[in-house]
Amino acid sequence: MLELIALILVVFVSVILGLITFYNNPKSATNKIFSIFATSIVFWAVVLYISILPLDPIQQLFFIRLSMLAAILMSTAVLFLCLTVPSEKITINKRLLAFILCLACLGMITAMSPLMFTSLNIDGSNVEPIAGPGMIMFLITGLGYSISGIFILLRKYIRSIGRKKAQLGYLLLGISIMHALLIYANFIVVLVFKSSALMNYGPLFSLTFLLSAAYAIVKHRLMEIRVLVTRTVSFAILVILIAVIYSLILFTLSSHLPENYRFIVNVLTAVILASTFNVLKKLVEKFTVNIFHHQSYNSADLLESLGEITRSSISIDNLTRQVLEEIISSIHITHGVFVIKTKTSHLTRSLGYTSPPQYSENTMYNLEQIAQSEIVLVEEIDNTSKKFFLLQHDLYVLIPLKVKNSVHGLLALGPKASGQIYSQQDIDVLEIFAPQISIAIQNALSYDEIKHFADTLKNEVEIATHELKAANRHLKHLDRLKNEFIFIATHELKNPVTAMRGYLSMLNEGLFGKIPEKMQEPLTQLNTSNQQLVELVNDLLQIARSEAKTLTIHSEVVDLCSLVDVICGNLKALADQKKITFSHSCPNPEKLNINADPQRVKEILNNLISNAIKYSDKGTITITHEVKDSLVITHVTDQGVGISASDQKKLFTRFFRVEAEAVKGIPGTGLGLYIIKQIIEKMGGTIWLRSEVDKGSTFSFSLPKAN
Ligand code: ADP
Repeated sequence: MLELIALILVVFVSVILGLITFYNNPKSATNKIFSIFATSIVFWAVVLYISILPLDPIQQLFFIRLSMLAAILMSTAVLFLCLTVPSEKITINKRLLAFILCLACLGMITAMSPLMFTSLNIDGSNVEPIAGPGMIMFLITGLGYSISGIFILLRKYIRSIGRKKAQLGYLLLGISIMHALLIYANFIVVLVFKSSALMNYGPLFSLTFLLSAAYAIVKHRLMEIRVLVTRTVSFAILVILIAVIYSLILFTLSSHLPENYRFIVNVLTAVILASTFNVLKKLVEKFTVNIFHHQSYNSADLLESLGEITRSSISIDNLTRQVLEEIISSIHITHGVFVIKTKTSHLTRSLGYTSPPQYSENTMYNLEQIAQSEIVLVEEIDNTSKKFFLLQHDLYVLIPLKVKNSVHGLLALGPKASGQIYSQQDIDVLEIFAPQISIAIQNALSYDEIKHFADTLKNEVEIATHELKAANRHLKHLDRLKNEFIFIATHELKNPVTAMRGYLSMLNEGLFGKIPEKMQEPLTQLNTSNQQLVELVNDLLQIARSEAKTLTIHSEVVDLCSLVDVICGNLKALADQKKITFSHSCPNPEKLNINADPQRVKEILNNLISNAIKYSDKGTITITHEVKDSLVITHVTDQGVGISASDQKKLFTRFFRVEAEAVKGIPGTGLGLYIIKQIIEKMGGTIWLRSEVDKGSTFSFSLPKAN
């Protein structure tokens, strides 16, 4: 019964895997030989099963011999598979091929002849075939071929890398388990326990190799088959385990216990199996999942988090570091590096290296040449020098970074930490992500460029500001020196000028005798010039004081209307010369009291009204007042030459004088308006004007109303 279950299982698994592998790639020699191998297992299993059925001795001997033939056929298929895998073409030379086949044929003929098994030794239920000298042929073509296969695989495994190594690793594991089990069943049990009971499970043991080979072959090309293969493998291992455990227990116990206890042993074994089935199942499932889905990750989740990184990081350093961190930790890679072309050179950003790789320009150029259009896997490169170049730099995958069909860099990844090859899932994820990261890197480069430009600009502005500040400090220093100079000079000028004035007025009063007619004219000129000199010296002193912040203001209640009248009175003679009249309206004088220094207010009024006379030829000078909030505003309006808009802007600056034709020859210093502006502001007011050329001007100033 157990043998029948094993047979059904073997036939089922072999046929399915044979078909899947064949249709997976019918042109491949590896896949074809694999299918022949699966068929030979089916053949072997069927013949072996028939050979243990209750047949007459002649038939039984025939089927036992046929089973030997099938075993040789299978071993030959194993040898060819090991020689060919994973190539798509047969690589062995034809002579060797012919030799192997001839020897196998010879072995099979010997197996069917009385040379291998001469006869049967029937002892009750135990049937033992008697081996003849032809058995040597089985040792060569059966066992020898299989063991050669193991060595060939081992050699290939040691010499290979990457995906190929992993494929061969699975095969090696499978074939080793198969042989270990076959040696146990066919030799240890036969020789030590003198029984051939386990020999019948040979095809079941060979399933380990069949499964591992199927997986290794289809693993890369058809990843969807993973789940199917995982389930098949776990199911098969489970059944094999149960069968092996059951037969081992049964065989070991029953050979030591009398016939009567066999029933008890059967029941006991069944109980042990039933109770351990679930535990075994879980263990096997865990084992297979570990092998087939080792370090798995969810592609959608990984792409989502990579997308998030490309959206949120704008600097090239952050972007590349975070992307490498994510890829390395999710796909379990030892290291990775971005090689990015910039306008002037290349830049590299790496992660996972003990010391960051230093690639020469030449190396980076070579890397770019290899990864020109599509993702490159080292194990799929045919060109050995390119392959060697990549392995020399410990790089296994190159992903070109393209924007609008031009490559501007690449992402190079090292081997997987587990030593496994890159799976189709890894490659799919990297292929989907490549365009996204290419654009993100381009953006980051542009951002860095702009940032660099902004930083340079900022530095230059800072330097310029620094220079300007220094120049400004220097200018202020010069200005202070100049003020000091003016102050000292004017102060020194004041005494001689005043003395001159004194003597002039004494001359005018006739204290030194009558002034001759001839001297009248020069004396008048002398008087005017002296007057101007006195004013200039006073103005300069005023400015010097104001700038040295020593301009003193005594605040008191001032009757503005009276002051205006006083000044108008003083200037009346001057106005009369030009036939200019005054008009001063002051309806409520008490409401126009202000809080100010009367001496300074006099200076203001004197300056504005004398200017109005100076810069008019005729007309009336109108002085009006108004109260606005807490201020009293005084307007002095004339009908004189007026001031252009452009000159108005510079009017209250030091030494500014209008250079229009109309005012040429009128003496002045250009300091009066500047000084009164300082005084007005110091007393809490402001000054402004409205003027039109040839129509006249209105100068207005405000001062705080008295409480
Ligand atoms: P100064 O009269 O001594 O030149 P000011 O500071 O008092 O100096 O005046 C500056 C300039 O403003 C004058 O040179 C003159 O051109 C112009 N200005 C001042 N007041 C008037 C006015 N009422 N009408 C026309 N121009 C004026």
